[in-house]
Amino acid sequence: MSSAIINGKEIGQEIRKSIAERVQLLKEQGVTPGLAVILVGNNPASQTYVRNKQKSCEAIGIFSELIQLPEDVTEEELLVQIRSLNHRNDIHGILVQLPLPKHIDEDKVIATISPDKDVDGFSPVSVGKMMLGQETYLPCTPFGVMKLLEYSGIDIAGKHAVVVGRSHIVGKPMGQLLLQKDATVTYTHSKTPDLPSITKQADILIAAVGRANFITKEHVKPGAVVIDVGINRDDHNKLTGDVDFKAVDGIASHITPVPGGVGPMTITMLLYNTVQSAENTLVQDK
Ligand code: NDP
Repeated sequence: MSSAIINGKEIGQEIRKSIAERVQLLKEQGVTPGLAVILVGNNPASQTYVRNKQKSCEAIGIFSELIQLPEDVTEEELLVQIRSLNHRNDIHGILVQLPLPKHIDEDKVIATISPDKDVDGFSPVSVGKMMLGQETYLPCTPFGVMKLLEYSGIDIAGKHAVVVGRSHIVGKPMGQLLLQKDATVTYTHSKTPDLPSITKQADILIAAVGRANFITKEHVKPGAVVIDVGINRDDHNKLTGDVDFKAVDGIASHITPVPGGVGPMTITMLLYNTVQSAENTLVQDK
């Protein structure tokens, strides 16, 4: 029997519908949620990501402003832009598309974004609050995975979740969010010996590696929920995940496809955080 597909496109659309309703309510109160996106240089993948984010904003009535800076922009010029956006009342979310050119200190740039507008959830303040379980903007990809699990009715408490990958933007926060929902979490990474012996214990397996078809039959326990965060292009430029879908289909109880799984959720949660930020300003004004 095939595994049940967790359809991120459908779940994402359902969530976007409710976000669009919140945008309407905000507009009735005189507030249009605004997202500023800063793009440095001409990286084609980054350009595509930014275009998609802007289109998604437009589709649900969020105002988005693109600030394009040349590849050789100085770090200080970029910081000046961010500081000015921090002070603008019409901008509720600020996003700096990564990666940045090598001469710019990414950590410094992210730390300059006001925590009140850090809708990517990457700043040290947001990360710290997330670790403490305090209210903050959660990083969009792991937040999206949590929504996929929630909407699919998958119990997390008491389950063994194994996360493959420990990046700041996916793996690490993913494990934290699962821990907060009472999973027993194991992190694995490139130095983990005998990976399959660990992943095979997972009730919930999260693949965030960045290697096409890396997770295969030998890694998956029968009945496990498999979430594929990976976005890789194969030799024919076809999108593939980190999970060998064909090999794992039928072994996992649930699986996310690529495309159409985690991908659509990341932008959805960016929209969610931006609207949340706009709503927060109304509460502060009261
Ligand atoms: P990184 O390259 O930053 O991190 C990859 C992680 O995988 C590292 O922690 C690395 O370990 C680990 N890893 C590498 N090789 C192995 C191995 N052989 N065994 C076990 N672990 C290994 O990637 P990201 O976290 O940024 O992204 C992961 C994937 O998710 C990529 O395909 C990316 O494109 C995709 N992605 C998808 C998003 C979406 O919206 N769906 C959003 C963001 C990312 P170590 O730390 O030891 O080097």
